[in-house]
Amino acid sequence: MGRATPHTSSRATVLDVIRAAGTISRSGLAGATGLTAATVSTVVRGLLADGLVTEAGRAESTGGKPRVLLRLAPASRYAVGVHLDAGGATYALTDLTGAVVSRTAHAGSPGTRPAGDPGHTARRVDALVEGAGVDRRLLLGIGLVSAQGDPAGARELERASGLAVVTGDDATAAALGEYWSGSAGRSSVLVAVHTGATLGAGVLVDGVPYRGAHGRAGGLGHVCVEVDGPPCGCGARGCLE
Ligand SMILES: [Zn+2]
Repeated sequence: MGRATPHTSSRATVLDVIRAAGTISRSGLAGATGLTAATVSTVVRGLLADGLVTEAGRAESTGGKPRVLLRLAPASRYAVGVHLDAGGATYALTDLTGAVVSRTAHAGSPGTRPAGDPGHTARRVDALVEGAGVDRRLLLGIGLVSAQGDPAGARELERASGLAVVTGDDATAAALGEYWSGSAGRSSVLVAVHTGATLGAGVLVDGVPYRGAHGRAGGLGHVCVEVDGPPCGCGARGCLE
């Protein structure tokens, strides 16, 4: 992945702060991001021009000029989240704020490849987007998550759908979702336990996934909780999962 340009990165930072705040003024943005007032002004002008942000009234005046509040324009962009596991597949269409606009779930057939058939997944994405009446040109891409993440599956789905696809493991995705939606508060360390067909935890430090020295920081599913417990798919016995 290429290094983000300073412009892209201040744009992403400003968008993130607006999302977390709900509504915020330009001077509030400068305070929260550490960017200069001039940079905030330039970035906001670009976001307004692209329709990602709208003006949402004015803040209470404290004597000076009333400050214009900014907020995300929810219907300006959309994304689709696809969760595949042995139990089935869940598809969610979200708007720019991360709110779920439409959602479908399909039971899986035991023994099928968890990554599924990319053509089939792409058709279900199309059906979800069409069903919600959303213009496909506003789609930013697809987030594909499964127990381990699936880079090969993501490339296949990219080809089948014509959309950008990012992939990751479901526990980290769940932790990122909690972090972005603000439901976990502003704590610097966040652990989200995901229970599906597998059991794992996503660990974030200051909003960034933490994987640990061996890449398995959240792998609590195969911690032994019963020495002579039932055999597990990993070959050990008595795993928590
Ligand atoms: Zn195990």
